[in-house]
Formats: sequence, C-alpha cells, structure tokens
Amino acid sequence: MKVKFLGTGTSTGVPEIGCSCEVCTSDNIKDRRLRASVLISINETRLLIDCGPDFRQQILPEQFSKIHAVLLTHEHYDHVGGMDDLRPFCRFGDVDIYGNRTTLNALKDRIPYSFTENKYPGVPLLNLHEIESDDFFSIQGVNILPVKLMHYKLPILGYRIGNFAYLTDVKYIPEEEYDKLKDLDVLVISALRIGDHMSHLNLAQALDEVKKISPKQAYFIHMSHQMGLHDKVERDLPENVSLSYDGLDIEL
Ligand SMILES: [Zn+2]
Ligand SMILES: [Zn+2]
Ligand SMILES: [Zn+2]
Repeated sequence: MKVKFLGTGTSTGVPEIGCSCEVCTSDNIKDRRLRASVLISINETRLLIDCGPDFRQQILPEQFSKIHAVLLTHEHYDHVGGMDDLRPFCRFGDVDIYGNRTTLNALKDRIPYSFTENKYPGVPLLNLHEIESDDFFSIQGVNILPVKLMHYKLPILGYRIGNFAYLTDVKYIPEEEYDKLKDLDVLVISALRIGDHMSHLNLAQALDEVKKISPKQAYFIHMSHQMGLHDKVERDLPENVSLSYDGLDIEL
C-alpha cells in the first residue's frame, strides 16, 4: 500500500492569500501546503480521500488512470471543492463517491447538475454511496472501516484501511471509536496550529491523541501557517511523529 500526500494544508492553504508572515514567505517547499488530500494505491486499486479545490493541480503530475473510489470526510469546501474536476476520470466509468448522508446531500447542492435527470453533456458522473460510521465496506477487495469523528458539533468520517488511518478536521474522537484505531502502523491526524481552535485539534492535543492511539508512526496534516516553520516544529516532535508535507510518499 502506497500513500501520497497530495495536500497537507488547512482550508486557506499555505501561504495564505495576503499574508507576509515567515511561514507564508518561506523558501522551503515544505512550508507550501495545498488543501488536504491523499491518494492511496493498493496494487491496481486507487483511492482518493477528499477532493478539495486544489485537486486539478494535485492530480496532474500523477498517472492518469481510474480512481476506484473517492472517500469523503465531510462537506467543507476545502475537502470537496474539486469534485467537478473528476470529469476526466469519468472516461473510466462513473466515479464512486463514499460519504455520510450530510456530506452527500451537501454535494447535491454544490454540483446539482451532476444529479439531475437530464444531464448536460460532460458533467461529472458520480455514483453516491451513503455510509455511516459503523458500515465496513469494500472496494475491489480492499476493506475500509469508517471512523466517527467530531469536528466541533459536526459528525464527520475518518477512514481506516488495513493498518493505516486518516483522520482530518478532528476536534475530538468519541470514546467508542478508539477500538477501531488499535495496532496502527501509520496514523495520519490533523493538527491545525499551536494555539487552541474551536473545531480543530491543536498541536498539543494532536500529540495527546497520538499518545493515546499509539500507532507506530504518526503524521500531522491540515496545518495552518500558525503552526510555524516546518523544519522548526519538526525538530521538537517525538521520534514517531512527523509533520507531513505536500508530495510525501509513504509505503506500508
Ligand atoms: Zn478542513
Ligand atoms: Zn502567514
Ligand atoms: Zn472542516
């Protein structure tokens, strides 16, 4: 199983438009963060988690082949803003989209033309699959377990695939969900910034979650410029925790 981090930034991306802080003006490419998404390959099966507004730019350098499923975490723009750019992938057939009911309903409002009876030629053809947090499902023989997370008051989904889990936009994890996160080789979890935030874990809180879940290795995602410079933050992290960066490839 291979995981490519297509984007590791928060909703605004980094640099943030109009900001001249040391992170937004840094020359280090690891301080440039597109909106959060990963592309997972398991043999010939390709899964995309989230499809934000930077999707076009993120997928252009990748091999052009079928995406077997898009797993959506929630309906915020930074996670679904690029859905229309799935159009080219309809050459391989309709694209299968998985998400909870709230997310799929919001998608129908966002790109209604994909869901009308008489579709304008060329619109993205999407098959929606509604899942809830306890529905185990399988794509091309790959088993996927959704994990319920709370993003302030909004219930959203994380996903476990084998010994890999992807949890973004987390504020807290309901106690009963920790059972699904045992014995992970890799945990990817959001850590927004140093300071507190109403709907996201900050760095200290994300480190506490890593300690509690105790994966072999953890990577932080969904970072804002207020996290600080990549190299500086990275130096003080425990040995099994790293900041991710755009373009990072890992193999499990
Ligand atoms: Zn987000
Ligand atoms: Zn900045
Ligand atoms: Zn969000």
